[in-house]
Amino acid sequence: MALDMSTLVSLCKRRGFIFQSSEIYGGINSCWDYGPLGVELKNNIKRVWWQAMVNREDIEGLDASILMHPKVWEASGHVAGFTDPLVDCKKCKHRFRPDQLQEKKCPDCGGALTELRMFNLMFKTFMGPVEDESSSVYLRPETAQGIYVNFLNVQSTLRHKIPFGIAQIGKAFRNEITPGNFIFRTREFEQMEMQYFVKPGTDEEWFEHWKEERLTWHKALGLNPKKLQFHQHGTDELAHYAKKAFDVQYEFPFGWQEIEGIHNRTDFDLSRHQEFSGKSLQYFDEATKEKYIPYVIETSVGCDRTLLACLIDAYAEEEERSVLRFHPKLAPIKVAFFPLIKDAGLQELTHKLQEETRPYFLTRYDEAGSIGRRYRRQDEIGTPLCVTVDFDSLKDQAVTVRDRDSMKQDRVSTSQLLEFLRKKIVL
Ligand code: ATP
Repeated sequence: MALDMSTLVSLCKRRGFIFQSSEIYGGINSCWDYGPLGVELKNNIKRVWWQAMVNREDIEGLDASILMHPKVWEASGHVAGFTDPLVDCKKCKHRFRPDQLQEKKCPDCGGALTELRMFNLMFKTFMGPVEDESSSVYLRPETAQGIYVNFLNVQSTLRHKIPFGIAQIGKAFRNEITPGNFIFRTREFEQMEMQYFVKPGTDEEWFEHWKEERLTWHKALGLNPKKLQFHQHGTDELAHYAKKAFDVQYEFPFGWQEIEGIHNRTDFDLSRHQEFSGKSLQYFDEATKEKYIPYVIETSVGCDRTLLACLIDAYAEEEERSVLRFHPKLAPIKVAFFPLIKDAGLQELTHKLQEETRPYFLTRYDEAGSIGRRYRRQDEIGTPLCVTVDFDSLKDQAVTVRDRDSMKQDRVSTSQLLEFLRKKIVL
């Protein structure tokens, strides 16, 4: 049975994963705040991505600023071309994308719609005290451009030969006409992007390479492989910069949808920045003495969409419990510690064991309610292991370790506990 999104939204709120932004003021459309467990999950996804993409010889990390020179967005084509068609309802004033409407009337009130017009998705703001056109800047709609304008900085300072890549994680902003489906489509979101610079002529090979690498990465997150597929962009879907594009799609309860795009952006972006800035962005190949503008293979994954896919994929309702079966590397809390009852001796040993584990894993202590209830609470937030200290523990120096998925219990000696936990939870 497909998971009802409202069940997930309410679990996320109840257990501190995701809250509506500015909730006490009635909320603000399509903006969400990650709570204590949500931020851990998100950080884990980012860490796993960074580990896969940057912990290698041919890729460097970067953290470029969100605000950039306005000419960047002219060069990138976003000022002229980053638009969606839009219609307004004349009666209730709601806005729609005409390609998503079944009829020519407003789906909310049946009112007449305005003529179609193009709407630029970039957020515009002003820099400095004067609010005029010369001071207007944009919030970046993608992180990629921060990488392109730093291409030669990174290449020359780290002395990279082509092929090499630059990776970055950061916020992007799009004034989407129809945000929705919880955190799937929002106006402020986080992207994890990597731009790989290659010699023209080798781009198709590298495209295939990265396409496969990225699908493998999603599977390694623990996502059900049956719910992952590629979707190739037809000529009508291709972005202005792309020669070829594949999406990695996940089967959400609301259908197959993109979580990542892999694009062959050719030399479009670097050539345009060279033209608009007047600065050469050519690469000089020492070995062959050739000068050229590299082609770019882009992998661009939404952190929030990946997180939503992970939540949906991990969620299971069983007879007596609901459980989030996160891969241990993603679980917000890795180990929970319980004294069997509120007894000073048990509490003391539980705290001691927790303190020994704290440098390695995020842990939580819970002594409220029955052991069964405490297990359920941890199951619902996806904690892979729970450690219970009982009266026998004081005598035999052993504790019970309970596994979230199998619900199997192991008796483990306290001197071996840390090693046992570290074997089960590989980060
Ligand atoms: P869509 O067709 O769904 O609008 P897109 O093709 O415009 O997405 P890209 O520009 O390729 O998306 O962006 C790369 C990734 O950034 C997407 O795969 C997605 O995970 C994420 N992303 C893009 N727009 C949003 C958004 N409004 N909210 C959340 N994530 C987004």
